Amino acid sequence: MRPKILVLGGGFAGLFAAKEMRRTLRDAAEIEIINSENYFVFQPLLPEVAAGSIAPTHAVSPLRYLLRGVAVRKARIESVDFDRKVVTVFQGVQRRPTKVSYDQLIIALGQATDLSRIPGMAEHGLTMKTLEDARRLRAHVIERLEHAEITSSPEIKRGALTFCVIGGGFSGIETVGEIKELIDRSLKFYRKIRPEEIRVLTLEFADRILGEMPATLAEYAAANLRTRGIEIRLKTGVASATGTQLVTSAGEVIDTRTIVATIGSAPSRTVREMELPLQNGRIAVERTLQVPGRNDVWALGDCALIPLKEKARDPADFAPPTAQFAVREARHLARNMAAALQSRPLARFCYASQGSLASLGAHRGVAEVRGRRLSGFPAWLLWRAYYLMLLPGPSTRMRVLANWLLDALSARNVVVLRSHDTQSVRHALYRAGDRVFEAGSRADGVYTVIEGEMELRLSDEETGKEIVRSIGPGEHFGESLILGDHLRLGTVRAVTDSRVLITDREAFLMLADGYSFLGEYFRKRIREVYDLDWTPGQTLKWPRGAREPAENAAQV
Ligand SMILES: Cc1cc2nc3c(=O)[nH]c(=O)nc-3n(C[C@H](O)[C@H](O)[C@H](O)COP(=O)(O)OP(=O)(O)OC[C@H]3O[C@@H](n4cnc5c(N)ncnc54)[C@H](O)[C@@H]3O)c2cc1C
Repeated sequence: MRPKILVLGGGFAGLFAAKEMRRTLRDAAEIEIINSENYFVFQPLLPEVAAGSIAPTHAVSPLRYLLRGVAVRKARIESVDFDRKVVTVFQGVQRRPTKVSYDQLIIALGQATDLSRIPGMAEHGLTMKTLEDARRLRAHVIERLEHAEITSSPEIKRGALTFCVIGGGFSGIETVGEIKELIDRSLKFYRKIRPEEIRVLTLEFADRILGEMPATLAEYAAANLRTRGIEIRLKTGVASATGTQLVTSAGEVIDTRTIVATIGSAPSRTVREMELPLQNGRIAVERTLQVPGRNDVWALGDCALIPLKEKARDPADFAPPTAQFAVREARHLARNMAAALQSRPLARFCYASQGSLASLGAHRGVAEVRGRRLSGFPAWLLWRAYYLMLLPGPSTRMRVLANWLLDALSARNVVVLRSHDTQSVRHALYRAGDRVFEAGSRADGVYTVIEGEMELRLSDEETGKEIVRSIGPGEHFGESLILGDHLRLGTVRAVTDSRVLITDREAFLMLADGYSFLGEYFRKRIREVYDLDWTPGQTLKWPRGAREPAENAAQV
């Protein structure tokens, strides 16, 4: 019987490993790949998707099209039983747990993002890892321009027009350059925004950006970005973030509604739970790409720590987490797999980078290829040519090229088809003194205080007196939204640094309908506070002209 090779993950490492093994082994093995999506994402093009120079569907390719002769399973990988040689996945509409057996297992699950170490970052930071992230970022940036164009509040305008990108590595620099280009090319549609009102910043913890590149090129990149008005803060990290502000490690408070995090690489939950030896958050493998002590488990790509020499210690002694290396590792793995199946000795992985390229947006880039350094327009052109060649499949290449040509000839599209901005249930952090909402604004959700203290101020219509009420952990406010859309009657501010759970109306009504104890609690609450009969599942219209009783002032 043919051995079964199972590849976990359809990114650069998994896709190219499966492709190369198909080519090398032909029909000597059965190959299956499992990926959460049925497409491969070309991550280096994500900043261009976020900037709108490429349509989202053109930065991805169907795995079935790219991997002829390889079985493709779209499923969520849950766990691996290494003793029984079985992988459990959740698949299909019902998300049924299904067991997939293997003879040889290849782990190529990439890295996840963990922002939980910086207070507020997981709640308010936008990530740049998936296609959805790139689409959301583009929509978010355009929504901020839309908001800045129409707001009458200088404070809100300043926050809306300040864009922060955290991390000065490849993805951070490419993202900040592309965002700036998107904004610059879109401004002609927003007549009330002056270019000098735009602020775009990059924060990098190290003492220079693009640590993977020679210092001279990194300096060129920094100078180019600065000339285009991008502020670069070096030796600066993020201490905390909220929906309206970012506090740097130097204590600077920046009003911003956009924080893009390209930091926080961490092993995914699936990889962590495999209980394989991890080093620096990656699966420590032999130079043959096998997991130590297991001749049927291999790992490569971003999830693996691959030594490039014996007794590797320094970070430079290990393969960097880049697409360029993932593709070389995949080729090496295919050769070693063929050797393993034929009981031949395995070769050690060694590869010296042929160079590195980064696009800075606005037709500028930096490159180092085989010791030759390039910057400016030639480097940018080389970047595009290289990635065009690396793109899998001729049709993807043609589509991306067509997108680039069109983008060069036309204005940036500022259409946002659907707001990807807000989740229906989300956490939000506020710093002491932050305004949560103010009287007269449209109600957007039911708020529950998890940590901290809030203060509500509301003026009593009858007496004209101001009522002040403190709202602490476990208490909620804003539930009058249950009765229908209306404008806030009071203003809420955070007294201390606070964390709240915000649930929008649709989600809240569903939860109250689905959980009888919750529905019953709010049914009683609405009766007590508003003297109205409401039953979960029922949509009431906010009684026109209705005024909330002052004694229930927390119920704004
Ligand atoms: C914005 C950005 C720009 C970049 N620019 C460059 C660049 O210019 N040059 C360069 O060389 N590199 C660049 N990189 C890095 C490069 O993209 C990565 O090194 C490369 O994608 C790693 O490939 P991988 O296969 O190991 O992981 P990934 O490409 O992340 O693939 C992992 C796959 O596993 C799947 N997966 C994970 N967990 C599960 C699960 N539980 N169930 C099912 N499927 C799962 C994921 O969906 C994904 O398809 C960039 C990365 C980013 C994010």
